[in-house]
Amino acid sequence: MVAIPSLIFRKELMDALIKNAAKDLATCKQAVALTGAGISVESNIPPFRGKGGIWEKFDPMEYAHIDAFMTDPVKVWNALLKDMKGIIDRAKPNDGHLGLARLETLGKLNTVITQNVDGLHQLAGNTDVIEFHGNFAWHFCLACGRRVKTGQIDLSEIPPKCPCGGIYRPDCVFFGEMIPSQALYRSRQAASTCDLMLVVGTSAVVQPAALMPVVAKQAGAKVIEINPETTPLTGSISDYLIQGKAGETLAAILSELERLL
Ligand code: NAD
Ligand code: ZN
Repeated sequence: MVAIPSLIFRKELMDALIKNAAKDLATCKQAVALTGAGISVESNIPPFRGKGGIWEKFDPMEYAHIDAFMTDPVKVWNALLKDMKGIIDRAKPNDGHLGLARLETLGKLNTVITQNVDGLHQLAGNTDVIEFHGNFAWHFCLACGRRVKTGQIDLSEIPPKCPCGGIYRPDCVFFGEMIPSQALYRSRQAASTCDLMLVVGTSAVVQPAALMPVVAKQAGAKVIEINPETTPLTGSISDYLIQGKAGETLAAILSELERLL
């Protein structure tokens, strides 16, 4: 098959940027990662936005807003949460999560700020994970506050109910809810003290998470994006975008970095 010149050019550009990222990581003192749903796509968890995203089928305000959940929990449980539970239960960390864990082992990365609720960074081995939007690993009862592991929830009745009769909801942040203040405080601190931020698989449109690369940039850090698509950060806040999948790209960066160290 004859290769198309623009594809060759793109591959060369990708390889050069991967080498660049490895060099930047080799020389940085302290990197921080900000991750979004895109890093878990290769673990078969669909993102919200972008190709194949959940929002191609659902309107976020109709399903992921706290008012929607409180008004009609049966609808939100049936359309979104029931499937999400199964998908997250089956998911395993991919090379993207494992690459960030390896960066921690190499002493290059302390903190992962994630918008994800799937717990895959912790499973991969990162020890300081700031969960901006909570975690799907736990649910709590709207009536009595009882907390229960997601795996123990019985889905034979929707919405699932606590022994007290109250409805269970996931311990994650719906649209319209506040970000946990500790997560916000710690993220700002991590973003303003790092000298390199890896922004992986986020559409960078959900605030205030999307502000973290701006905080990092203003504090003098280099900002590297990994995403198959451009985002509002591209060409303004990020120093460069490596236009590829998180798993493949981070695996390539790590093997280059380990050669340099
Ligand atoms: P998003 O859904 O808005 O955007 C996903 C981004 O990932 C897009 O920019 C897309 O181009 C990119 N992407 C797609 N495939 C990729 C790949 N293989 N590698 C790298 N990037 C890829 O995600 P968001 O910015 O995180 O914001 C949406 C909110 O949705 C989050 O706050 C999160 O709470 C929630 N969410 C979480 C999960 C999860 O926990 N895995 C899944 C869906 C949504
Ligand atoms: Zn209860």
